[in-house]
Amino acid sequence: MNKIKVPKNVKLIINLLENNGFEAFAVGGCVRDAVLLREPNDWDITTSALPEDVKKIFNRTIDTGIRHGTVTVMLDKTGYEVTTYRIDGEYEDGRHPKNVEFTRNLIEDLKRRDFTINAMAYNDRVGIVDEFGGISDLENHLIKCVGDPIDRFNEDALRILRAVRFAAVLGFGIEENTKKAITRLAGNLRLISKERIQAELEKLLMSDNPGMIECARQTGITEVIFDEIDRINEAGMLSSVLKLLKELPKKHYLRWAGILVLADRQRAVDILKELKFDNKTVNVVSRIVEAVKRPLPMDRAAVRIDIYEIGEDIYEEYLEFMKYYLSSELAPPQCETVYEYLMSEYQDIIEKKECLSFKMLAVNGKDLIEAGLKRGEQVGGVLNHLLYKVLSDSSLNDKEILLHLAESEKNKNAIR
Ligand code: ATP
Ligand code: MG
Repeated sequence: MNKIKVPKNVKLIINLLENNGFEAFAVGGCVRDAVLLREPNDWDITTSALPEDVKKIFNRTIDTGIRHGTVTVMLDKTGYEVTTYRIDGEYEDGRHPKNVEFTRNLIEDLKRRDFTINAMAYNDRVGIVDEFGGISDLENHLIKCVGDPIDRFNEDALRILRAVRFAAVLGFGIEENTKKAITRLAGNLRLISKERIQAELEKLLMSDNPGMIECARQTGITEVIFDEIDRINEAGMLSSVLKLLKELPKKHYLRWAGILVLADRQRAVDILKELKFDNKTVNVVSRIVEAVKRPLPMDRAAVRIDIYEIGEDIYEEYLEFMKYYLSSELAPPQCETVYEYLMSEYQDIIEKKECLSFKMLAVNGKDLIEAGLKRGEQVGGVLNHLLYKVLSDSSLNDKEILLHLAESEKNKNAIR
């Protein structure tokens, strides 16, 4: 009997259910990950007990999805989803089962799951329940549907993208029939909400194998949900972009900037908004993507102007991106050393507290008004002029010098 390592709270829940006369198993992703010796995200439990039984047995429960048979059991501030064995009814919109039916049969519950590697159950008493060849597919590194892939993808189109996501995360291939069905039904991903697409794309992109997105393109998935990939391919740049992606650290902003690196700022904004990303992601990623296209600064003054114009708030993310971008095939030739230069100038500029913003300028609007400048447009214009003077030459950041410069600007304006 194969044993896997189960956390003590999970054992406790399973034992308590069994002691009350029910069956209970750890199920799905956690069994898969434990067999692979990967750290599971969470431990889900499947049981023959009905939700009301589960609620009677445990002190603290939350009705998270009672309609679908799920009760969350709270132990030591961690939630464990305990779901009654169920058979999913007909799917009405390629996503939601119209109704679910509870069953007393574990195998029926495993049958409704997407892939063989996700359709295994385990407890210490019975060992691994592997009705659909999940262990063998884990050994052969294969993503394969439980049952007929065409039926499974017709029931729920999100599974099409999940197949590619699991392939990327686990470094697996996709079984031939499953892949054929994906190619045939990729268009059904149109039925799936953008939020769910986003969640899968995020996991794919943040995996060890973001290049798996190429498989999503070949099977017609990206054309439907993320056609930037198809555009990059048409431009002949896909292999370079995918190489960059793999090099980039697994950081959300950097990987999204990587995949959108050829888009202009507005297109990046549109794509990320369409995928329902939060405002911060839209903002940071689109600004990095724009910043990458700026000419590289040739001296320290130009670095200061860059920091100001790109924005101090994202400059470190931008720099980290450039570390990988500048040694990628996408960068202009002979740029490898530019990163070291940018980094050392940036660090020195910060250390010496050189002026990078209006806040750090030795004069402010009030000073200029006191010096006789007109409130509003004139003050704004002159302040901007002074900031650029100081960005170009830090030694000018002195109140007296700047007031003098402001004076001559005022007179210039008056002559004009
Ligand atoms: P992750 O590591 O992303 O958490 P997971 O396999 O645990 O992977 P979940 O989305 O947490 O995936 O789902 C838990 C389990 O529920 C899956 O392993 C699978 O058995 C089943 N499942 C989830 N989504 C689907 C689906 N769309 N169709 C069929 N079964 C599904
Ligand atoms: Mg999970």
